[in-house]
Amino acid sequence: MIRARLLVLLAAFFALAAPAAAQKRIALSFDDVPRTPGAFMTPQQRTDRLIAALRRARVRQVAFFVNPGNLQQPWGAGREGQIAAYVRAGHVIGNHSFSHPHLSEIGATAFVANIDQAAMWLNGRPGYRPWFRFPFLDEASRDIPTRDAVRAALRERHLQNGYVTADSMDWLLDQLIGQAHAAGQTIDMNALRDLYVRIVVESAEFSDRLARDALHREPVQVILMHETDIEALFVADAVAALRAHGWRIVPIDEAYRDPIASAEPDSPFLSSRIGALATTAGLPPRDVTPVVNRMDVVTQAFNTEVLHQPAPAPAAPAP
Ligand SMILES: [Zn+2]
Repeated sequence: MIRARLLVLLAAFFALAAPAAAQKRIALSFDDVPRTPGAFMTPQQRTDRLIAALRRARVRQVAFFVNPGNLQQPWGAGREGQIAAYVRAGHVIGNHSFSHPHLSEIGATAFVANIDQAAMWLNGRPGYRPWFRFPFLDEASRDIPTRDAVRAALRERHLQNGYVTADSMDWLLDQLIGQAHAAGQTIDMNALRDLYVRIVVESAEFSDRLARDALHREPVQVILMHETDIEALFVADAVAALRAHGWRIVPIDEAYRDPIASAEPDSPFLSSRIGALATTAGLPPRDVTPVVNRMDVVTQAFNTEVLHQPAPAPAAPAP
């Protein structure tokens, strides 16, 4: 009896003394809505499947970043209903500019006007959040006057930077699929799913390690995805794999309440908020991007694993 009590006490002690369990949390975000049609389904099918997949995977709230200018394109006309359907399903929408320009190319004045044009469409819509996602994640990180002019404009408009901390590279996979499809090549869909899921998990794991090493805490991660056929087909697989690796999928509202949301890092690397903060903590920019976010690495993996092309021969040894 006494021994049993002692064991209970010991167990309680060790439970208290154990370090806090890892808190890996991540939210999902989808850009370029409504996006160009993909290779496998119509935009309406894509929206229906994506909403159903998120519901089945019990992902309560993600963000869709909208380019209202796409609604004026031939392939985007009449798709307001798909955006409304995301909101009815419990998700939220943010500003991704009107026509998706590169800040570094058009400069602050035209860029801010483009944001305002998108805001005219977005303001007052159900599900709208005052978040701005930079197209191409281009914040003009090496042009400080431009960077700071846009930061000031966002503050004036009470718009928060809708940053990301991890990249699914779906935009590149989608491009590679389009090329393979147009060339009549066979796409191994199981291998495509596995590659996509691997990039999502490794990208999130890398960013979590980086945050623990450089920031000594675990901010809520935000992963960059797009409204593509890949997500409609495989987002539930990616979510299941993240959970298997100990991740909790949280609402995007929770992600953007994290303390890192108010940071304005002074860094030449702004494509990932955690990466940017890690560089200000002293890490070189080359060390804050995972290998699975390199275009050459993803392209080669796609060619060998998904298209089953022979791997390129290793470089010949120097004479
Ligand atoms: Zn975009």
